Amino acid sequence: MKLSNDNVCFNFSKTNAPILRTAAPASVTIQTLDCFSNQLRREEEELQSLDWDRINPATGPIYVEGAMPGDTLKVTIQEINLDSLGTVCCCKGDGVLGHMLEGDYLHVVNITDNHADFLGKYKLPLRKMIGVIGVAPEEGAVNNGTPGRHGGNMDTTMITEGAVLYLPVFVEGALFGLGDVHSVMGDGEIGVSGLETPAEVKVKLEVIKGKAPEYPILENEDSFAVIVSKETVDEAINYATELMCLFLEERSSLSRPDIIMLMSLAGNVQISQVVDPEKTARFVFPKKYMDKKEF
Ligand code: CA
Ligand code: ZN
Repeated sequence: MKLSNDNVCFNFSKTNAPILRTAAPASVTIQTLDCFSNQLRREEEELQSLDWDRINPATGPIYVEGAMPGDTLKVTIQEINLDSLGTVCCCKGDGVLGHMLEGDYLHVVNITDNHADFLGKYKLPLRKMIGVIGVAPEEGAVNNGTPGRHGGNMDTTMITEGAVLYLPVFVEGALFGLGDVHSVMGDGEIGVSGLETPAEVKVKLEVIKGKAPEYPILENEDSFAVIVSKETVDEAINYATELMCLFLEERSSLSRPDIIMLMSLAGNVQISQVVDPEKTARFVFPKKYMDKKEF
C-alpha cells in the first residue's frame, strides 16, 4: 500500500478523518513532506515568507482495524528513502541559541552518497530518522510540534530504519501518522531544525492486544529505550528512568535494588530534543542484560 503526501494533518486528534483504513499486519509506504511542507526548497526562499500554519505536516491518519484503546501499535520502520535535498535553519528567538541570533537563516543541502554536503565543505554521514510519529491522543488535538504519550514530535535519533516503535493506542483505529523526516540531526536538535528532508517511509503496522505502554518504547537490535516528553529535560529523564525500571522488573528475575544498580552501570540516559514545547529524553538499556528480551 502506498500513501501519497497529498493528505497531511497538522495535529493528532481523533476527529481527523482517516485517509486509509487497513487490516493489520500491513506494510505501508508513506510519502512525507518536510517539516516546512516543502516551502523552503531553494536557498533564495526566505523564512519570512513561510506559512507557519503548514509546519510539521504528518501524512495520515491511518485507521488500523482492530486497534482499540489499551492496545499497542507496533510500528516497524523498514525503510527510509530520502529526497536529494534537505533544509536546515536557525531563527532568532528559537532553539537553545536563538537569543544569539539577529535574524533567520537557512541552507539547502545536497544529500548524496550517504552524506549531507553542508556548505560544500563538510560531508556529514546520514543519520536518517523520523521526527514526528504517533497516534491520536485520548482527548483533544495535540499539535504536531509537541511530543507526548501519543508520540508526536519526539525528534529522537533512534527512530530510524530497523527500529521498532511501540505506541499506546488511545482511540479506535489508533489513527497513526508520521512526517518530519531528518536526514541528519544531532541529539538535542539545539538550533531548532534537523536536516529537514522529504522522504518515503516504509512501515509495518501490527496490533498487540493490551499491554499499552505509558510512553512510547523503542526497540532496536541491541536495546530497549523508553522515550518520555515532559515540560523539562530533568522531568523527562527522571520519568523515563522510572518507567525503564518498571519495564525491566517485568522482564528480569533481579530484585529492584539489583535492577537499579545494573541500570546505573549499564543503562544510558540520552537527550532526544531540547527545543520543542515539551522536552524529550530516553533511557536506553541493553537487551543482553534482560532475561526476557521482548516487549
Ligand atoms: Ca521535529
Ligand atoms: Zn524536523
